[in-house]
Formats: sequence, C-alpha cells, structure tokens
Amino acid sequence: MVSGAVPPSRVRAANSGTPNVEGRYVLYWMRSARRPSWNFGLDRAMEWSRQLARPLIVFEGLRCGYRWASDRLHQFVIDGMRANAAAFEGTNVTCYPRVEPEPDADKGLLEALALEACVVVADDYPAFFLPRALDAAARKIPVLLEAVDSNGILPIHSTERAFPTAYAFRRHLQKVLHPYLEEMPRARPALRSLPAPVPVPDHVWKRWPAAAFATGLDAFPIDHSVAPVALEGGVTSARRAWRAFLAERLDDYADGRNRPDRVGSSGISPYLHFGHISPHEMFASLVKREDWTPDKLAVLARGSRAGWWGMSEAAEALLDQFITWRELGFNMCVHEPNYERYESLPDWARATLEEHEDDPRDAIYTLEEFETANTHDELWNAAQRQLVREGRIHNYMRMLWGKKIFEWSPNARAALDVMIELNNKYALDGRDPNSYSGIFWCLGRYDRPWGPERSVYGKIRYMSSQNTARKLPVREYLEAFA
Ligand SMILES: Cc1cc2nc3c(=O)[nH]c(=O)nc-3n(C[C@H](O)[C@H](O)[C@H](O)COP(=O)(O)OP(=O)(O)OC[C@H]3O[C@@H](n4cnc5c(N)ncnc54)[C@H](O)[C@@H]3O)c2cc1C
Repeated sequence: MVSGAVPPSRVRAANSGTPNVEGRYVLYWMRSARRPSWNFGLDRAMEWSRQLARPLIVFEGLRCGYRWASDRLHQFVIDGMRANAAAFEGTNVTCYPRVEPEPDADKGLLEALALEACVVVADDYPAFFLPRALDAAARKIPVLLEAVDSNGILPIHSTERAFPTAYAFRRHLQKVLHPYLEEMPRARPALRSLPAPVPVPDHVWKRWPAAAFATGLDAFPIDHSVAPVALEGGVTSARRAWRAFLAERLDDYADGRNRPDRVGSSGISPYLHFGHISPHEMFASLVKREDWTPDKLAVLARGSRAGWWGMSEAAEALLDQFITWRELGFNMCVHEPNYERYESLPDWARATLEEHEDDPRDAIYTLEEFETANTHDELWNAAQRQLVREGRIHNYMRMLWGKKIFEWSPNARAALDVMIELNNKYALDGRDPNSYSGIFWCLGRYDRPWGPERSVYGKIRYMSSQNTARKLPVREYLEAFA
C-alpha cells in the first residue's frame, strides 16, 4: 500500500474560485477528519502549501448552535482538539482551534480567514449540517474551496447511485475496491518540512481568540443535561482503543459482538464519527495483524460475505461491518437527499407500514416516557439507560431498542422522530450516516420483506425482548443498567 499524491477521486471543487497566488497562507478547515495524520484533507492542503510556497494554517472549529450540542459532545470534540493542538505543536503547521462561546459568535470567521488565503481545503462529509455549511462557505469564499473525502476506503463520489442492500453494495465493492486499497493517506505527514509558519491574522485572532481548553463547559450555551461520559476523545485515545481491540477482542468478534454480557465489539464508532481515527489507519493495522496482501482477495466473490478478503473469519466479519455496512451508509447520504426522512424507505416497506398503521399497539409511549426509560419492558429500559449514561448502546441491543420504539409508537414517522432524537442527542456516534442506516434499517431499509406477516410490523423484520433474552445472556446487562 502506498501513500502518494492525493488521488483525484478524493478531491472536488466546491466552488468556482481559483487559487489566489497573492494569498498569505493555505487554509485547511478541519471539520470531520479531525486528526493530524492519515488524512487526505491535510495531505491535500500540504500539497498546496508546497506548490504555492505558502505556510499552512489548520482551523478546527466547534460551533455551539447546532442541534443536540451538549456537554457530552463538546467534551469529546474538545478532547480531540486538545490532542490535535499537541500533535501540531513544534511543527510548521499553525494550529488554530476555536470553540464558539455563543451562537453565531463565529459567523464570518471562516470568511475572514479565507480572505487572506490562497486556497481553502475542507473535509467532505455527507450528513448532518455539514453539507449545508460547506455549500454556504462555497458561496462566500472568494478563492478555490476544495472538498476532500477521507470518509472511507471507497471514495464517496465514486458511485452513481444509492445501493438498496448490503449485498448489492458488497458486490459492487468486490468489483471496484481493489485499486482503492492501494491509495492511502500519509501515516506520517512531513509537517516540519512545510514553509515556515505564520500566525493567524491579528484582526482575526483579536476578535476570535483560540480556544482556551481550560474553560468549563458551563460557560457554553449548550445542553448541560447530557453529561460527558468517561470515554476520552482524541487521536491518542482512539488509537489506544483500536489497538486494544485488535490485540484482545478481535478473535472473538464474530460471536462476542452480539453478546450483551460482553464488550465484544471495538467501541470505535465515536472516534470514527468525529474523525479521531482514520478508516485507512484501521484497515492498515488490520492488514498488518493478518499478514495480508491484496493478492489474497477472492477473484469471484459475487456478493458473498465470507471468503472475499482472504483474511481470518474474525477479520472478515469485522470488515463486513466496518467497510460494507459503514460505507453503505455514506453511499445513501451522498445519493439520497431524503436519507433522514420516512420517504426514503423502500416502497415495499412503506406499503406494509401503511397497511398496518392502524393496527392496535400493546403500548404507546411518548418521547418523554422513552427518554426516561419508563416502559413496561426492563430489557428495553436497560438499553435506554445505557444510552443516557454511557452515550452508546450495546450493538445487538441497539437493534432491539429501535424495533421496540417502532412497535410502541403511533406510526412509523413518529417512531423515526423518537429514534433520531434519542440517538442523536445521547449517542456519541450519533448524527452519522450510520445513525440513519441503523434507524431506518429498523423499518426495512437494506432489508427484505419477512413472513409471517404480523400485526403492526406487517412484513418488517420482527424482534422481541423475550427472544433476545432466550437466545442471549442478558442478566448481567439488566443488572448493569438497572
Ligand atoms: C437503531 C440503530 C441506531 C444506530 N445508530 C448508529 C449511530 O448513530 N452511529 C453509528 O456509527 N452506528 C449506528 N448504528 C450501527 C451500529 O450499531 C454501530 O455502528 C455499532 O454498534 C458501533 O459499535 P462498535 O464501534 O463497537 O462496532 P464494531 O462492531 O466494532 O464495528 C466497527 C465499525 O463498523 C461500523 N459498523 C458496525 N456495525 C455497523 C452497522 N450495523 N451499520 C453500519 N456500520 C456499522 C461502525 O463504524 C463501527 O464502529 C445503529 C444501529 C441501529 C440498529
């Protein structure tokens, strides 16, 4: 695997501006790939910096007026900003972390920075408010604004359509992924070899001083009821978590990830969501562990899950989640403008949901009852308590959590509203393309019709707490989140 010039498949012009050779610096707007290495956006900004012989400023901002801004999310992002500032210290990169003190205080900041830039490079990300923010910036920035994709192994703009199932997407990956496995961002970008650094322009710095990391979260007008969790954000913690998983838990992954009495999965999703770890770095370390080379890829895989990669069973199971399923979610957000709305469900799912909309429900709960874990089902309540306390739900329980919200809501649209609200408010990995994959999967996205047709569910795949409790050891889970 080689890391060279940033491949064209990763870069797109977000506006029609041109580079300003009179500019004072190159600006990298770090917004979703929040890390100082294994980052195509950073690599691209460094290419510009060398080509134009101008220094590089990395601007990493955190606004406070976005939906679901809370102590929990702020703490995790600020941990990451602190780690990034430390990583850039002593290099030729000027790192400019900024935490907005009140809504709209940072309006105009990016524009002010861009006015003196030759080129602006920004991370490309297809979900939440980030596409809108990029479009708004593209309209205002007078120089070339490039959007660079570090999201996954398959470039997000390399496909032409949304894939309806994991099987269809896997088949596609099996045909096209091979060359992309050879294209890696730089593991150790030569940050000290860039042109000598410049400070952030004085008038910008005075009006918008850099983040004071010691500021308490109380100072920010965000939701203080969603408390920080023990998990620390940032590249160092992310790398530690991933290495520990590879060394201690991967061998048991296929089985362990579905057992509520174990921490069998990687727990890496919050770090992936905020870009504190790169999918490329994760893949490269897995490859090393497996002593794998691309010639081991099966030539005729035809959509099958096992035996495609030519790695151990556990590694293949992980790759199916972490590449096929994860990148399927990004594919949907790129091609389906309604990815977060009921209308984006497949036709068969909407038809069966509507047919069963008036079926009597055993129970109907309000958002508040769900949020406070006040249902008749102790296993469901435990999952909701885990979400509120830890900012995550065990992998298997998350599916049950979503299915029951559907079952106990007046209709599918109301269920989606509740799932999106609770998942995105409390989960560290929420507001991600895979938040919508998971939530909409509960209502038939990426799935097929199932029989027998049931009340409320119709042909949507059914799950029950009783079956879960019969199949899986849940006692410890119930005790932990009583
Ligand atoms: C109702 C519901 C809501 C969900 N909300 C989110 C969310 O907000 N954010 C999120 O990242 N995932 C979400 N998922 C998908 C999945 O549950 C999580 O990605 C997984 O549990 C994260 O834990 P992990 O990092 O330990 O995963 P691991 O099993 O260790 O997998 C490694 C990585 O692969 C990817 N992955 C694993 N399982 C899936 C999956 N089923 N779909 C897509 N990608 C997957 C994730 O990026 C994950 O971090 C949701 C699923 C459901 C059913």
